Amino acid sequence: MPFLFPVTEIDTKVYEQELRDFLPDRMIDIHTHVWLDKFAAREPEEVKRAVTWPALVAAESPIEELLETYRLMFPGKAVTPLIFSSLKRGDDHEGQNRYVAECTARHGVPSLLYAFPEWSAEDLLWRILRGRHLGIKVYLNLSPVYLPEKEIRIFDFIPHHQLELLNSRKMILMLHVPRDGRLGDPVNLAQMLEIEERYPDLNVIYAHIGRAYCPEDFGKAFELLRKTKKLVMDFSANTLDEAMYQILDAIGPNRVLFGSDLPILRMRMRRICEKGRYVNLVPKGMYGDVSKDPNMREVEEAESRDMTFFMYEELRAFKRAATRLGLGKGDIEAVFHGTAQALIDRVGLELYGRAFMHTAAVSATGDGN
Ligand SMILES: [Zn+2]
Repeated sequence: MPFLFPVTEIDTKVYEQELRDFLPDRMIDIHTHVWLDKFAAREPEEVKRAVTWPALVAAESPIEELLETYRLMFPGKAVTPLIFSSLKRGDDHEGQNRYVAECTARHGVPSLLYAFPEWSAEDLLWRILRGRHLGIKVYLNLSPVYLPEKEIRIFDFIPHHQLELLNSRKMILMLHVPRDGRLGDPVNLAQMLEIEERYPDLNVIYAHIGRAYCPEDFGKAFELLRKTKKLVMDFSANTLDEAMYQILDAIGPNRVLFGSDLPILRMRMRRICEKGRYVNLVPKGMYGDVSKDPNMREVEEAESRDMTFFMYEELRAFKRAATRLGLGKGDIEAVFHGTAQALIDRVGLELYGRAFMHTAAVSATGDGN
């Protein structure tokens, strides 16, 4: 593996002093993207519906780089990712999804199909089973193009006929909620509760704690979610310990999962909230021209000197939340491994008649292999 990114003294210090003993030896990262640039569209998207800064971190994300990232970031741990693609309309989606299926076959890592809302239930099922996926990942950028971004609702990109299919086969749905109101948006919450009610066998994982990156994103979410029994949240790409504390308190540590959102979690940064908007502070010059992106800001050397990975910032925030809530070793094990392992085994058995993933498929020994 050629050189991927530097690990500084600061990074090592953060890992050794704050994270190594806190994290269990085996971990499952429930939220990761792999894709190849050769399958990406050359032209920019017709309608822009997502933030642009992630593209500054990695142009592509081959599986080997993902696995190398764990070796660099988590010496001594075995980390297994759940993988799925990252794509937009115009990309060669067959190529991207095929690549994910190949990674699953080659590396024994579990995966999800990246699905389009216009696919029929039959078509969707066939694609899932062909790739030996455990379910699907959906995203608001694949909603019908005539919809303005602010008006997109969950059911515009995961329609009921697909939810019915996923529910009947007890599959996994990785869902990133739309709308400016994020987790606290009343339309989102109404539809999340509707999914919970109508599709009891579906395993929904809401990404990024429903994008609650700042306290202004909470709304009445935690009160309402407290009454749910099934849905699961990952805290990928989130560094807000208050959101982690609230969700752990509302639904319990057995329904909260560690996820990263790699490769963007390789970014060197620190996140702040300003008037309800998150801003990624980054070392000057490291990520090119970020002047037009309201979610990015460069800081001078004095302020960036002790910056570490987005990954470690997320984990530090989780540790603060877990400590404040008094979580024990067993709870931490559930968040980083146990719940995800049980879910993946259960779904693999249901769909393919066998537990899908060998525990610790990826060995991150940190010995430079
Ligand atoms: Zn993601």
